[in-house]
Amino acid sequence: MSGFGDVMSVASEQVRGWALEAGFDAVGIVPIEPMPRAEHFRSWLKKGYHGSMAWIARDPERRCDPGLVMRKARSAIVVGVSYQVEDPPPALWDDPLRGRIARYAWGRDYHKVLPPRLKRLAERLGGSSRVYVDTGPILERELAERAGIGFIGKNTLVLSPSFGSYLLLGVLLTSEALEPDGRSEAKGTCGACTRCQTLCPTRAFPSPYVLDARRCISYLTIEHRGMIEPDLSRLMQRWVFGCDACQEVCPWVKQYRKPSEQHGWLSFDADRCSPRLEEIMAMDQPGFLARFAGTPVIRTKLSGLRRNAAIALGNCGQAEAVRILDAYTADEDPVVRDAVAHSLLELKKRGA
Ligand code: SF4
Ligand code: SF4
Repeated sequence: MSGFGDVMSVASEQVRGWALEAGFDAVGIVPIEPMPRAEHFRSWLKKGYHGSMAWIARDPERRCDPGLVMRKARSAIVVGVSYQVEDPPPALWDDPLRGRIARYAWGRDYHKVLPPRLKRLAERLGGSSRVYVDTGPILERELAERAGIGFIGKNTLVLSPSFGSYLLLGVLLTSEALEPDGRSEAKGTCGACTRCQTLCPTRAFPSPYVLDARRCISYLTIEHRGMIEPDLSRLMQRWVFGCDACQEVCPWVKQYRKPSEQHGWLSFDADRCSPRLEEIMAMDQPGFLARFAGTPVIRTKLSGLRRNAAIALGNCGQAEAVRILDAYTADEDPVVRDAVAHSLLELKKRGA
């Protein structure tokens, strides 16, 4: 134990050990202080880049200062779980009549997996604490960067030198004043690379380090309710839930492809990762729950997933897609009906 501040009941090295035992791959510790990139966040909000995600815009002052989220907090422990698992078989992933689901959503919902681990860590640590996994007014990525877990790349994600960006983040705010972890100094840079910027299918980066969520396939397929403008939907390829394109092309991800062995809750299963678009179109609520309950996919709801599948069929360029979509031109869901109509037009344009 060394002397940081006036209170330090547990050594940071000990905390790191506990976090690894709890099942986390990456750990970093930072003192609580206002976020240095707060201005960047405020200007992002001002431009409306968060789209309809109103909760992000709520109470930006607290989001920019974890000390306002928990008055007693002295330190933040930032943890990461790698979700780098084996690549899917190309025969399935590249099948034009199958959709694509973002990698983090291939298994159990991480909102259910990470918090119990963080709570175990909090119990061992003592004092008072709060845990956040995407759920509170916390800028996880900024904290992760300060904690040395990685650096924020031009694709706005945390790039860890050990795990790339396929990393689920969680934060534990604690009343314990812990010494910042000296080992957590993993830094890096994008350098001259611009791959994510130029290869994003919907051109969702107005500039490096800035994401216009309103154009991002992750936002459109998951958060956006209702119809999607054809100008955008035509660029969404076959993603039906989320999008990993700006990670798949990133050299930091490619370089550190290290399949995570300890996370059995994430693995490739054709029906969960690359489902047949025809099956999604035919899904009813019980079928949707049977396949996706307990996974992140549930967030988009059946209507959203069927809309996304209709869009993906329009983008696949296959004559078979016309036959599938023809059965849904009078679908009772107007959002699905709209996507079907636009996709049929698109397929016609492409000569399918
Ligand atoms: S997730 Fe997909 S759509 Fe969104 S910024 Fe990355 S590449 Fe673009
Ligand atoms: S693709 Fe290149 S520019 Fe984008 S985040 Fe990765 S290293 Fe940075």
